[in-house]
Amino acid sequence: MFQLTLWSIPPLLAAIVTAVLYRRIKRNNHVPGVHGLLLLMSCIGFWAVSQLASTLLALPTHQILVQQISLIGAVLTPVAWMSFAISYARRQMRAPPVMLNTLSLVPLATILLGFTNPMHGWIWQDITPFVEAGYAGLTLSYGPWFYAQALYSFVLMIAGSAMLAYILSVSQSDWRPVAAIIAAPTVATAAMLYHVSPWNTLQLLDLRALGIAVAAWILYRGVLRYGLLDNIPVVRDRVVNQLSDPVVVVNHKGLIVDANEAAVSMFAQERPELLLSSIAQFIPRWPTDDLRNDGAALDEITISGQIYDVAFSVLDTFAKQSDVVLVFRDVTVRREGERRLRRMQKELERLAHTDALTGLFNRRIFMQRLEEEVERVRRHGSAVSVLLFDLDYFKRVNDTYGHDTGDVVLASIARIATDVKRMSDVAARLGGEEFALLLPETDQQGAVQLAQRLRSAIERHQYLSPAGAPLHVTASIGVATAQRSAKDVEKLLSSADRALYRAKNNGRNRVCSTML
Ligand code: GH3
Ligand code: MG
Ligand code: MG
Repeated sequence: MFQLTLWSIPPLLAAIVTAVLYRRIKRNNHVPGVHGLLLLMSCIGFWAVSQLASTLLALPTHQILVQQISLIGAVLTPVAWMSFAISYARRQMRAPPVMLNTLSLVPLATILLGFTNPMHGWIWQDITPFVEAGYAGLTLSYGPWFYAQALYSFVLMIAGSAMLAYILSVSQSDWRPVAAIIAAPTVATAAMLYHVSPWNTLQLLDLRALGIAVAAWILYRGVLRYGLLDNIPVVRDRVVNQLSDPVVVVNHKGLIVDANEAAVSMFAQERPELLLSSIAQFIPRWPTDDLRNDGAALDEITISGQIYDVAFSVLDTFAKQSDVVLVFRDVTVRREGERRLRRMQKELERLAHTDALTGLFNRRIFMQRLEEEVERVRRHGSAVSVLLFDLDYFKRVNDTYGHDTGDVVLASIARIATDVKRMSDVAARLGGEEFALLLPETDQQGAVQLAQRLRSAIERHQYLSPAGAPLHVTASIGVATAQRSAKDVEKLLSSADRALYRAKNNGRNRVCSTML
């Protein structure tokens, strides 16, 4: 009833390899495609074990039954391969059930026909027991459905491999997984094809089991060893997927190979459209040649109206070309806060420099600018002039029209002074109704001319009280000019002040000047 021969070794090897692989893959059970891969290993294992059984059993009736049972594993293997390919390509844990069911229709028919074979012979036309060198086996000749199933399996294997090879070649920089994904099914399919081909004269040696074992081993070395299941799918981790920060994996060609939920909604696209599209279309400043720079970052990327800072990290720092993980941080609120703060700082600075009533610079800034100008004159030897002017009998304006009217007049004086001066001149309100003009690069003659223009503009202007009453005011102006010899700001100011005093004493509404 049983036989013990060397022909059991190939299917035994295949069974052991698939069992080891099954366990290894099971450990990666959180990555996409893993269900398809486990199904694949189960089918191959089932098939290997049934082949093993058929070599161990000596009775033809038992062997035939095992052949029928082994069909289950054999015909479902390509479906499992396809299911792995589809789910891996779609970055899903498992392939859609509808697709699996549809793909399984032909194999199910084959299994049914296998068990009912004696009635029609569509799978095996002829089954002849033989005994050779102490080994009892079956010589099988195949029926039409068998070849149809073989063709179907072949097409599924090719399609699945092509799909995987494409996905891997665009998403991985390492060629080994790609080579493995093509080599493994090729070896297995070649062994299958050889077995059913008319050239197969080795009835005894069933190469199919060996082919499967080799293919499984290639898959293990090329795919699992080189990280097919742990490189890209790292970010598929539930943790990453639930992160509120968008996370995107970009390959060395700048194509998006993975994105978490937050990233998918940030880009406002469907996942299938997003995957394998170019990151540069979302980030115009994408540093195409600088991808190897681990820890690089991009600031202020605007996507769908939100502002993000992007941090890069290279997944495999040793590889020449590696995938890069991008983590986006929404900094919209922070950036807007910073902008508001900057605006407020500017405003505060402006307020600290200016006089509230007139909008002119205040005394502090005037003194600062004057120091700078005098310093310049000391070095470069041109001239600087200062105008001090004070409104005449201004107390009367207040007394007659009220303080509010006085304020309106002061604001008008500031406008007149601003209109009369040049761009580079600095106008300031030193306090009360006393103003100053700093005239860089201006000699005494130029300063007196400007002072006269200012004096007459103030005199000619008709001011209006808030109640609408027209009035006129005049101003007395003291001018002081410093040249290279001048060393002292205080001296310049007091000279201007003395000139102003003279202008007041000489009858007001006039300009007096002095030279240092
Ligand atoms: P003069 O300078 O020609 O000698 O006579 P004046 O009447 O202008 O005399 P003084 O410079 O001593 O008086 C300054 C007056 O300016 C006193 C005050 O009523 C008025 N004044 C000072 N600061 C302000 C202000 O901010 N608003 C208003 N409305 N008046 C002010
Ligand atoms: Mg005055
Ligand atoms: Mg005064």
